[in-house]
Amino acid sequence: MSGAASLQQGLLLVLNAGSSSIKFSVFDVQAGQAPAECFHGKIEGLGGAAYFIAKAADGAVVGEHRWAKGASVDHQQALVQLSEWLSPRLEGRPLLACGHRVVHGGRDYAAPVLIDDKVLADLEALCPLAPLHQPHNLSPIRAIREHLPNLPQVACFDTAFHHDQAEVVAQFALPQSVTQAGVRRYGFHGLSYEYIASVLPRLHPRLAAGRVVVAHLGNGASLCAMQGGRSVASTMGFSALDGLAMGTRCGTLDAGVVFHLLRELKLTPEQAEHMLYHDSGLLGMSGVSNDMRELRARADEPQVRLALDIYVHRIVREIGSMAAALGGLDALIFTAGIGENGVATRAEVLEGCRWLGFKPDAARNAQNGPCLTEGDPALVPSAWVVPTDEEGMLARHVLEVLAARGASN
Ligand code: AMP
Repeated sequence: MSGAASLQQGLLLVLNAGSSSIKFSVFDVQAGQAPAECFHGKIEGLGGAAYFIAKAADGAVVGEHRWAKGASVDHQQALVQLSEWLSPRLEGRPLLACGHRVVHGGRDYAAPVLIDDKVLADLEALCPLAPLHQPHNLSPIRAIREHLPNLPQVACFDTAFHHDQAEVVAQFALPQSVTQAGVRRYGFHGLSYEYIASVLPRLHPRLAAGRVVVAHLGNGASLCAMQGGRSVASTMGFSALDGLAMGTRCGTLDAGVVFHLLRELKLTPEQAEHMLYHDSGLLGMSGVSNDMRELRARADEPQVRLALDIYVHRIVREIGSMAAALGGLDALIFTAGIGENGVATRAEVLEGCRWLGFKPDAARNAQNGPCLTEGDPALVPSAWVVPTDEEGMLARHVLEVLAARGASN
């Protein structure tokens, strides 16, 4: 068997590492077939008494571990736990590779890449552009290189899908020297958008070639304007703080507010950053929660109602902005936790978008679509629910990189 062919059978691990959690998925890879997820899970509460849970594809819990109270579990210990749990489940099958969601690929990394010393050094140099995410994405890469130096590792970037946005879209109105230093719009949630773009042709032929806005509404949230399945504009820019109001992030903010927080309210830069990332958005506005289910259950409380209205208002306004970037709109796609399940949020957003030609269908919306609107999608703007699959996209990319490496060996 050639190197490329032998690489096609076994298991793939994909990791999505954040500051306080590591999400993982394990995929079974058979020659000639799309990778099939067999396990997924997470280690959450890192930095404290963390909790590990693993589930099979049908959702059954197949592994659980809770560290003792008072423990301070780091990323390395979390990976040891994952590795100990995974080893007996390999059942003789080789672990082919590990794929990583990496938030920032900068200007240079526009596609998934096999990690070597140079790539890792380049990605480390991007940490100042995403200090809250990039170091955590890279820490498991380093740990795995130390313990399994021969395991191929692949980095897949949240920025890559937006890499080819026009300069007129990507640049801020700042001095050229600042732009050249990397202060520009990058866009994020790229793996989610790339997955959605990949399924558009199956949804409706008009959408694959058309002008589409995808609303990724999860705890983090953003919009992406796509033309022919390629990113034309997005609401997240330099950081994952921009654009829509989110679970705990403020979204677009007059830069003058930051100076006011520092100068008049005497916050340190770290305190201001923490407030904008962790204490704002739905949580900060409502004073109740960042969880949409809880907020909808308490929507008769005035402060919660206002938070929900602001959240929706911002989405509707930004959809208008994305439609302007596209010169019109053929379809709107909802995805991620709120996009896929939030019937009330979708109804309110679509109501606000009637001016774009949408005719919401309440019964279809109540059933989570997939189509949410009246009329022939070939003739009038349509709205849809499409579940995203960032982990599946990661697995596909890892296999492509392995195949390319096999072909070049
Ligand atoms: P994600 O980051 O994609 O996991 O999405 C998390 C968000 O999805 C949270 O605000 C959840 O409250 C929300 N969510 C999950 N399920 C539902 C549901 N059935 N209805 C409304 N929101 C939901």
